[in-house]
Amino acid sequence: MFKAFLIKYAEIGVKGKNRDIFEDALVQQIKYALKRCEGEFKVRRTKGRIYIDVLSDYDFEETVDNLKTVCGISAICPMVQLDDEGFDKLCEEVVNYVDKQYPDKNFTFKVHTRRARKNYPIESMEVNALVGEKILDAFPEISVDVHKPDVMIFIEIREHIYLYSIEIPGPGGMPVGTNGKAMLLLSGGIDSPVAGYMVAKRGVKIDAVYFHAPPYTSERAKQKVVDLARLVSRYSGPIYLYVVNFTEIQLAIYEKCPHEELTIIMRRYMMKIAEEIGKKTECLGLVTGESIGQVASQTVHSLAVTNEVCTMPVFRPCIGLDKQEIVDISEKIGTYETSIQPFEDCCTIFVAKHPVTKPNLNVIKRHEENLKDCIDEMMDRAVNTAELIVVEV
Ligand code: ATP
Ligand code: MG
Repeated sequence: MFKAFLIKYAEIGVKGKNRDIFEDALVQQIKYALKRCEGEFKVRRTKGRIYIDVLSDYDFEETVDNLKTVCGISAICPMVQLDDEGFDKLCEEVVNYVDKQYPDKNFTFKVHTRRARKNYPIESMEVNALVGEKILDAFPEISVDVHKPDVMIFIEIREHIYLYSIEIPGPGGMPVGTNGKAMLLLSGGIDSPVAGYMVAKRGVKIDAVYFHAPPYTSERAKQKVVDLARLVSRYSGPIYLYVVNFTEIQLAIYEKCPHEELTIIMRRYMMKIAEEIGKKTECLGLVTGESIGQVASQTVHSLAVTNEVCTMPVFRPCIGLDKQEIVDISEKIGTYETSIQPFEDCCTIFVAKHPVTKPNLNVIKRHEENLKDCIDEMMDRAVNTAELIVVEV
């Protein structure tokens, strides 16, 4: 029944030249999402609107599911496309549509017409009134409410006439590719895939880095991170995932630094290496899944000490969220089930019984001195031997 879609987008701040960039990027991302769907589609941009024409048989559910992953889309409106065969025919089609779409007739409505084709013989206000009357005639139990209708019936008069009343929410935000690129520190947990999604939703392209510590972390733990990257890439587009072998550095820290400071020192090296790779790949910032107070290494004191090694801005989109709020987002974006698979990540193996919660930067730096003979060489090796996996859906 639906042979076209109207795509709505929200950001009101985008104007002028930026609007072109925004719309072009959105069209690109829509095409990328539609490539995953059965069927033939044409994406069109006219006068500040984006339409998708369906040119063949297609699977409605699959198409909508994929469009729901396109950042920048605020709503997806499935449209009935009609040829202009006179006004009576139009009224008949609208009545049919209402009957099919709303079997339960207990609602209020309003008709809203947009006459983009100015040579159409009836003005939009009149179309609203006349079509409204026909609906009321056909279904006396329905009533009009012009202020707060349950259902808005939109009629768009163009070359064809379009009819829609359903708005399926998209992720909102901005199309990926309109806001630079950042390096996501992606672990196998719940938080970092959510952080990646939240940054992608603001238009940022992402690369990712995973710190792998074989044999302490298994191949399956690595596979889980690849799987998570793939799930995030539904929203972000292809992700270049760098798998860094972190074992040597972790063992050196374990051997030479106080155990209660292990996590914090390890996190500082992770950030440094992520930044190093990020610089080479034109990333402008780092992204982590940290949230204030969630664990010892995420107290404000710990975050300050971790952050001290970075020269790039670090984006922490989960910073103010409670765990349950992060879980809710991960369920919504479909990463939760994968995140909770029980494979160790490298942090959980080298954790101390009583990690510091208020690390002192000077003390940490003094203890890092213990690594000075070997760390530069090991960092270089970690960066240079990183395995690149290109992940996409
Ligand atoms: P997550 O659920 O994202 O794993 P977490 O609650 O387990 O987070 P930590 O293990 O303290 O928290 O990690 C904090 C952040 O550091 C993560 O969100 C992630 O961005 C990064 N991180 C932790 N471990 C790794 C790793 N092995 N590889 C890449 N990034 C990591
Ligand atoms: Mg973790």
